[in-house]
Formats: sequence, structure tokens, C-alpha cells
Amino acid sequence: MGAAVQTAGQWIAFDPTRQGGCYHCLGSADRDEGLGGCAALGILGPVAGMIAMQQSLAALKYLLGAPLPWGVVHYADGWADEYSAITLTARPDCPLCGGGD
Ligand SMILES: [Zn+2]
Repeated sequence: MGAAVQTAGQWIAFDPTRQGGCYHCLGSADRDEGLGGCAALGILGPVAGMIAMQQSLAALKYLLGAPLPWGVVHYADGWADEYSAITLTARPDCPLCGGGD
């Protein structure tokens, strides 16, 4: 998964065994979607390319059998030149991986 808006974006390769969480675990189902996407907030063009390149690299690593950091949310702000990463964990209340409701 990859996403970008304004000057920043994020990408992650979800663990197919769902031991490390899924897209539902990444964000709350009741999160505020009213902030708008790229159409409302804008996107710095190279940031979209930067995130897409990271997704492409992850896909190539997977296809070639190279080690891949499953379940790690990578964050990059192309304007501020800031990068970080956190490990996603399965939420207990996730209907897909937590067995919750
Ligand atoms: Zn989940």
C-alpha cells in the first residue's frame, strides 16, 4: 500500500499471514475522511513518484525473494526531508486479524 498527499507519503508491505496487521489495523474504520485527498489538499508531484518507487522496490524484492520488511509503515516527507518507520501490529479489535467485532 502506498499513499501520498501534500508533501508526504507512506508505504507498507502487509504481512500476508496477517501476523503483523492489515490495512484495517493501520487506520481506524471511523477515521475522519472529510479532510480531502490530493484534489483538495494538493500533492507535490515528486512525492507521489517517490512513494511509487518504494512500492516498486518492495514488489521487486518480493518477486526476487529478497528480504522484505513486512508490516513496517514507512513515512517520508519529501519537502522536510524527514523519514521514519514504525512496525505495525495487529489490533485486537480488527475484524480481519484480531478476531474482534
Ligand atoms: Zn487487521
